[in-house]
Amino acid sequence: MRFSPRYLVFKKQGIMSYQFNRRGRSFRPRHQSNNRRPQRSSIPRSHYVSTPVAPIQEEAYLAVNTFADFGLHEQLLANVMRRGYSKPTPIQDQAIPVLMSGKDVVGIANTGTGKTAAFLLPLIDKLLKDPNQGVLILAPTRELALQIQEELKAFLIDLPLGTALCIGGMNINRQILRLKDKPHFVIGTPGRVKDLINRHKFKTALFTNIVLDEVDRMLDIGFRHDILFLISKLPPQRHAALFSATMDRGAEAIMKQFLKDPVTISVKKRESALQIYQDIVTIKPGENKVDVLCKLLFQKEFNKVIVFGRTKRGINKLEKQLYDRRLNVSAIHGNKTQSARKRSLLDFKQGRVQALLATDVVARGIDVDDVSHVINFDEPLTYEDYIHRIGRTGRAGKVGKALTFIS
Ligand code: AMP
Repeated sequence: MRFSPRYLVFKKQGIMSYQFNRRGRSFRPRHQSNNRRPQRSSIPRSHYVSTPVAPIQEEAYLAVNTFADFGLHEQLLANVMRRGYSKPTPIQDQAIPVLMSGKDVVGIANTGTGKTAAFLLPLIDKLLKDPNQGVLILAPTRELALQIQEELKAFLIDLPLGTALCIGGMNINRQILRLKDKPHFVIGTPGRVKDLINRHKFKTALFTNIVLDEVDRMLDIGFRHDILFLISKLPPQRHAALFSATMDRGAEAIMKQFLKDPVTISVKKRESALQIYQDIVTIKPGENKVDVLCKLLFQKEFNKVIVFGRTKRGINKLEKQLYDRRLNVSAIHGNKTQSARKRSLLDFKQGRVQALLATDVVARGIDVDDVSHVINFDEPLTYEDYIHRIGRTGRAGKVGKALTFIS
């Protein structure tokens, strides 16, 4: 095993390419079949090497409002306090009053900004005043939809509003039963919600409030047509919010089609790629990649690691190999059932396993704090995949580490 010589020469390169890419030029829809995706990685090795720049002292945001200022329903406010939110985050401070006034909102904000509560609180409040309407929340991944539902349930304690989660990979009949109860909130992924509408099991007529969360990721995953289909099925008189970490042409087109005279609120944090130490690990001829991985995982600091592989089969095989070497790991990929994925993710989140082995697509929904390392056991196919992978570490102001195996 050999780490590359120090990387300073390339320091800026990775970051600049990322910004270039995030403007949307070289993005490739993720639903394309494998034969239309490159078969080999074409990413220059220099892109895998970078040191984080010194953290910039961000100015503390002074919220204009307290939660009490928003005039939320009393029990709802109590639930916010019970959840331990003492003051609004910037997106909440700015978006909640706008949504409460009935206007559409475009939020340019990434995960970790508190955007979920920014759209949930005003919409819950609205439905408490008039329960004769529904809220549809669309998220790009099952995991994100689940996280939204968890937050929603915490806000709905002792309140008379019902929810249904409509995501792929879970029993559709149970979801159909839940929809029969006429829930006020439906949270789902576009594919499953479309399926339920086509089966006439989800009637959208009363769903006049819509949230599209993480639109850029939805477009990356290839949900553009499903989103357009859903928009066409929703009541024309609607109150809408759209959130996206970036506003490229694709997201802007959806915004124009979907929202009326929206107020745009931008609270983007600095790109997390800046907070990640990135390096390569060269696998020498004759060296076994799994041995190299094990050596790393036996080091104490590798305590919460996501290992990326390219194929589901490869991940399964690696899981067995690591298990045979007495390493405590779990795996997550598209062939696992939703409940198996949920269990693996929870084991990882709660520290019962040291490493989570994952493929690219499912990894987009992983939102776990304190990931110490991302290891690219197989090189990603595109630079976009690389950025998404390494973005699982280096969060919340911490410096993460990303290592890419090169042979
Ligand atoms: P989100 O960006 O909505 O995924 O939220 C990121 C994290 O911040 C979640 O763990 C939330 O529970 C938490 N959070 C959201 N709003 C607040 C707040 N006002 N005060 C403290 N934590 C918050």
